[in-house]
Amino acid sequence: MVLSVFKSGDELFNQGVDLVKRKEYVKAKKNFERTIEKGGREAALARAYVDLIDACLDKNSAGRYTKLAATLERMNDGFEFGLTEIEPVRLALECKLLAERIETGNMQAKNPAQLEEKGNKLLDIARRYQSMIGNDAITISEIVGVPVNTGIKEALYIQAQGYENLASGAVMADPKRAAELLQNAYACYKQLGEGGQTTLNTINAYSRSVKCWICGRPSTGEGVHFLAMPSDISPFMRKSDDDILKSAPADYNSIYVCRPCYTGISRRSDEIAKMYHERAMQEMRAMEARLQAQISSMTAMAAMRR
Ligand SMILES: [Zn+2]
Repeated sequence: MVLSVFKSGDELFNQGVDLVKRKEYVKAKKNFERTIEKGGREAALARAYVDLIDACLDKNSAGRYTKLAATLERMNDGFEFGLTEIEPVRLALECKLLAERIETGNMQAKNPAQLEEKGNKLLDIARRYQSMIGNDAITISEIVGVPVNTGIKEALYIQAQGYENLASGAVMADPKRAAELLQNAYACYKQLGEGGQTTLNTINAYSRSVKCWICGRPSTGEGVHFLAMPSDISPFMRKSDDDILKSAPADYNSIYVCRPCYTGISRRSDEIAKMYHERAMQEMRAMEARLQAQISSMTAMAAMRR
């Protein structure tokens, strides 16, 4: 390999192209970086190769795709990367969409306003996948080695995610609306040929209405606005024919309690438990001090007798 020291930029470049075909990306990247240093004929193309390899080696980073898009936008001619034919303008578009999708996917959304913002952003990105890529396959997925979908199919996944975020944002104020939004997500999964069972379960939970066993108020949205609290509904109680009994779980092992009653009981019992805990700890510390004092006086007595 002594000769490699004298390799020209073009030789390094050609060797890099071969290494990419063998998927030896780390080695190939070194070749392309040295091509750029030496300013070979293919230095501009080598820059694109370096950015493509960076994306392959770090495929979940939005920043890699943004950088790659900017490099590709400065190029006019198509080229090959491994076995994939690259059209710079088209790949740049895919990279920008993907970067935006990753950034939006990583958005921390906790309160309803943030969830709504994230959901709407995802729906907007989905629309662009649909209109700008359509039925074509997504090339960047092939390059970085993730399952290749068409723009339409990818749009459906992103749309489903968007509706799920919107539903999470809506459920505190309006569980019926949240269930409707999830129906849209479910329709996306159906079109993709997926079961969507988790979504369906959540729709059913959000749509369920019961009456609270404690205050008698009606409530909608299981797990959010009312919760099942372990209890024992005796056979005698099961015979009664009121609305509240009708809204008991089929196994009679719990009662439904509205969120205000549930949180009221939980918080008060936490306070009581904490009070007893503190009292017990105080008594233990007092006992420990008494025992310590007894031990000290016994030790002192023993020492005097020696
Ligand atoms: Zn209640």
